[in-house]
Amino acid sequence: MEHDTVQGSSVAILSSRRKTSVQALRSEIISKLAYSIGKDAATARDHDWLTAAILVLRDRIVDGWMSSVREAKRSGRKRVYYLSLEFLIGRLFKDALGNLGMTEPMREALRDLGVDLDAIAGLEPDAALGNGGLGRLAACFMESMATVGVSGLGYGIRYDHGLFSQKIIDGRQVEVPEDWLSFRNPWEFLRREIVHEIGFGGSVGMNNGWDGTARHAWQPAEIVLAMGYDTPVVGWGGRMINTLRLWSAHAVDPIRLDAFNRGDHVGAMADSTRAESISRVLYPSDATPAGQELRLRQEYFFTSASLQDLIRRHMQRFGDIRSLHEKASIQLNDTHPSIAIAELMRLLIDVHGISWDEAWSMTREACCYTNHTLLPEALESWPVGLMERLLPRHLQIIYAINQHTLDEARKKMPVGRPEDAARISRISLIDESHGRRVRMGNLAYVGSHKVNGVSALHTELMKETVFKDLNQILPGRITNMTNGITPRRWFTHANPKLAGLVCDAIGPGVLDDLENITAFERYADDPATKERFAAVKRANKEALAEYTFEQLGIRIDPAAMFDIHVKRIHEYKRQLLNIVETVALYHAIRAEPDRKWTPRVKFFAGKAAASYVQAKSIIKLINDVAKVVNADPAIRGLLKVAFLPNYNVSLAEILVPAADLSEQISTAGMEASGTGNMKFALNGAITIGTLDGANVEMRERIGSDNIVIFGMTASEVEDRRNAGYNPRAVIEGDPALKEALVSIGTGQFSPDDPARYRNLVESLYDSDFFMVAADFASYVQAQRRVDALWSNPSDWWRKAILNTAHMGWFSSDRAIKQYAEEIWKVPFWRTT
Ligand SMILES: *Cc1c(COP(=O)(O)O)cnc(C)c1O
Repeated sequence: MEHDTVQGSSVAILSSRRKTSVQALRSEIISKLAYSIGKDAATARDHDWLTAAILVLRDRIVDGWMSSVREAKRSGRKRVYYLSLEFLIGRLFKDALGNLGMTEPMREALRDLGVDLDAIAGLEPDAALGNGGLGRLAACFMESMATVGVSGLGYGIRYDHGLFSQKIIDGRQVEVPEDWLSFRNPWEFLRREIVHEIGFGGSVGMNNGWDGTARHAWQPAEIVLAMGYDTPVVGWGGRMINTLRLWSAHAVDPIRLDAFNRGDHVGAMADSTRAESISRVLYPSDATPAGQELRLRQEYFFTSASLQDLIRRHMQRFGDIRSLHEKASIQLNDTHPSIAIAELMRLLIDVHGISWDEAWSMTREACCYTNHTLLPEALESWPVGLMERLLPRHLQIIYAINQHTLDEARKKMPVGRPEDAARISRISLIDESHGRRVRMGNLAYVGSHKVNGVSALHTELMKETVFKDLNQILPGRITNMTNGITPRRWFTHANPKLAGLVCDAIGPGVLDDLENITAFERYADDPATKERFAAVKRANKEALAEYTFEQLGIRIDPAAMFDIHVKRIHEYKRQLLNIVETVALYHAIRAEPDRKWTPRVKFFAGKAAASYVQAKSIIKLINDVAKVVNADPAIRGLLKVAFLPNYNVSLAEILVPAADLSEQISTAGMEASGTGNMKFALNGAITIGTLDGANVEMRERIGSDNIVIFGMTASEVEDRRNAGYNPRAVIEGDPALKEALVSIGTGQFSPDDPARYRNLVESLYDSDFFMVAADFASYVQAQRRVDALWSNPSDWWRKAILNTAHMGWFSSDRAIKQYAEEIWKVPFWRTT
């Protein structure tokens, strides 16, 4: 595809008109402090300084932002709308400073005022409007779109409370509400004029359109207002600044005065409370069935607001709804926004008077869908009864789409074999097998022109499993877009020492395009580079050791191997495999204390969904094991275990640069891609992992000598399950595994409650769905290979350097360019 040659200078962004001199910054900070916050330097507290500094930075961003918006309007280019129920953003201050090249001037200006930049930056709330990888991907994609020059808008919900904050009390997870907006949010702009009405419930009647034809007319029983808040998203170098627009829910009438005056003070606020509850909290689920009316209300609320908004913009600019699909690409991040298919049909047909056939082809041209999971419990479906009550017109449209889809399917199966009936029932948008439910994945599939998986393996599995039948009936839609991570947050800014080392070696071009980092490969055998690389890692490990001491009071030796397993706690991610191996290692060290053991620190961090009992039990187990192991003098500190509380983006920024070993050990076939794996390898950690998700492609690029792979493949897992897996026999045949499980199951680590882990251990004996026992021996062997490698530092650092050097392709800039070329068909900058 030909790229539009938009010159960087014409979209011109960071105005050099404003001086970034330290002196100018200093006086701007002082005046923000006075005129926006109402304080002077003598009375300002750290939070005030932070807000003032952010407001100064924001002023500079706004100049570029407005010219980006003007340019997008003027050029009439196609735009991308990225709909995501989650954006796991993290802190913005240092990232924006870094992207604008203003870190050092800002640091100096603040220093002159007696303020430490790092100290105030640490006060910025970590915006956690997401659960994990899916939300973090959306945040990386927003930043990469602004970097590679894709004009785009992100749409989501402005939750009052993001993901809960995790406290560990007596080894157990306790969820505490998160309050990121409590000190106002200096990044956002409330757009009072951008308000859309979102309907719920009611009935569907008919009326006559402007041309006299009959149209369906939905009369909702309830209206909620969606109000937009905009946050600028700065790309690298500030050439383009895109917008993240988050919707907040409000009642039409904030208060019912009649009720209030009658003395019913609570009832007077009931509508308001009901409406505002939509944007109150992030749904705290991670791959568990949502099943709640509020969740469906959230999904429809933000999807409808976003579609109305992009149609309004399109009509303002082009005046003709019929060209919508030529000017807008609507990316659905997972099934959460997939009601968009029915909502866009409704808006086109009922509101804009487009015929069914034309509306259907426009919808499919405009929409595209990213699938993130094959776990059946995470593929959303809604009870037909709930949909009928909340969205009656949408249900009609879904039935009509279904009729159309099944008619097409039957045409392709003219013979009418008995197995075809089963296929038809699997393709149907209505699942008749568990009560009647609307299958949102199937709706997204049939209403999109492209359906993408997030790693090569996941995309292939999608074709063989969830979308097998649809892929046969509607072939050619499934495509792969392997995930990526933004190198600004996860390399340049999180690990400035490593970025500096790489720039010194191969030049600063690597900052503009991470794929240039392959040139660093030449240094893999250079002793001086190895030494510097090891010194950078050591400094990052010292910082993590200090943080760990502050948090947990555990002293760790930065010379030990830092073995890090951080991500959501989920059975398929197999933190249990790791902690059982840790117990086995502990027993082995105790049995032979004088052998030459590799000193290790096992770090864990991650949140469990509040209702996920098994995951919470695993957190408690890790903490119980830590307590015993860390206090045992017999192992002479050779093994330590640390569970760091409240895993979030900011904590990841400390952990990722400090890892020697990255644990990516999911049951093969279950992790769609992973992005944590990419962050660690880019920062020079060696991966121990299964052939799952993007690990497969990482191995191809890094080289199989430089990654430690173990365990069953996805197809071996499937075969083993089909053949009747017997975990008990495996456990009985592996003395080390058996000893570890017996000790856990009988209370070695929980003397206060010896039966605490009996059920956990029994579930491994009886079913072990995630194949912990089946992969155990292979995992142990892989860990001993890691030990052997560690004992040869020259070889270790060579491999670490090769990891860093071969991770350039996993930049989210590359991913966004692929989406732009293959799915969205939108122009982007020429970077060559
Ligand atoms: C990257 C990231 C994730 C995703 O990690 P995976 O290992 O891919 O599951 C989750 N949470 C946070 C805070 C992250 O930064």
